[in-house]
Amino acid sequence: MQLSRFPRVRLAHLPTPLEPMPRLTAHLGGPQIWIKRDDCTGLSSGGNKTRKLEYLIGDALAQGADMVLTQGATQSNHARQTAAAAAKFGLACHLLLEDRTGKTDEAYRANGNVLLDFLHGATAEERPAGIDMNAELEKVAERFRAAGRKPYPIVGGGSNPVGALGYVGAAQELMAQATELGLTIDTLVTATGSAGTQAGLVAGLVAARSGIPVLGIGVRAPKEKQEDNVFKLAEKTLAHMGLADVVQRSDVVANCDYVGPGYGFPAPGTIAAIKLVAELEGILLDPVYSGKGMAGLIDLVKRGFFAKASNIVFLHTGGSVALFGYPQDFGFAKLA
Ligand SMILES: *Cc1c(COP(=O)(O)O)cnc(C)c1O
Repeated sequence: MQLSRFPRVRLAHLPTPLEPMPRLTAHLGGPQIWIKRDDCTGLSSGGNKTRKLEYLIGDALAQGADMVLTQGATQSNHARQTAAAAAKFGLACHLLLEDRTGKTDEAYRANGNVLLDFLHGATAEERPAGIDMNAELEKVAERFRAAGRKPYPIVGGGSNPVGALGYVGAAQELMAQATELGLTIDTLVTATGSAGTQAGLVAGLVAARSGIPVLGIGVRAPKEKQEDNVFKLAEKTLAHMGLADVVQRSDVVANCDYVGPGYGFPAPGTIAAIKLVAELEGILLDPVYSGKGMAGLIDLVKRGFFAKASNIVFLHTGGSVALFGYPQDFGFAKLA
């Protein structure tokens, strides 16, 4: 699997650190919990979309695009990272933001990722919840083509076989770090949404016969649908790399019990997990993805799902910028 065969630009600070979480581990009483810091990729406050965008922007430039188009929810980390990546390579960036939550407060609609989208010079238009956003993206691409532009549309989350290559690379990076540290990884846990992160990881880890299982913690879709989406994308990603019949459906496992009230709405356990990790480890999670992923990990530890003597790696996928879109969910007192 030579990833160097694919067009790529450099955006991320790699390798991202793989660090122990000693105070969280002690608090929970085992297993050993490690964290892979993909919140530290360095692009506009970081996150998992950076690795995908290295291949997506590489492909856009190879195709002679003069702008990128993408879509996501109002507080999309993917939209913000795409705006930053486009800025770095002198491409215009236009965003389609889906009002997926209906939240009307000022912080949600203007702070956090929305503020950074505009800081990076992106333009944006909104769409109501529940429409086919990737179809909408194609319509808008057509509008720009008719105006003489060369848009490169990027599907939601950058989750296609090109973007997922970034997480095939992350799987290779993680295996090398584990070897260097003498660490046997028993399970890799990640939040899973548009599926590209888990699909790339599963493709990379299974193709290398690593024996490292991935557990996705869902943030939106029910289990069957989420696993199907990840499996299909893992297969397509491997096909894009010229590999067939590598992954089995059983290699893809998602637990979707921690979605709470729905996409973009933190559950009480999400908020508790964000506070716990902030207080014990000085690390910022987010209310939409990594907070739910960590809430799942913590609850599963408490239920004895993982062997006490095992090593669990949590992939920190970033997103802390979205905290500024959710100040009231934490219930802190105002300064007098
Ligand atoms: C997009 C995102 C995810 C989910 O990754 P997918 O590849 O969409 O499944 C997880 N965490 C954060 C912070 C994200 O922005």
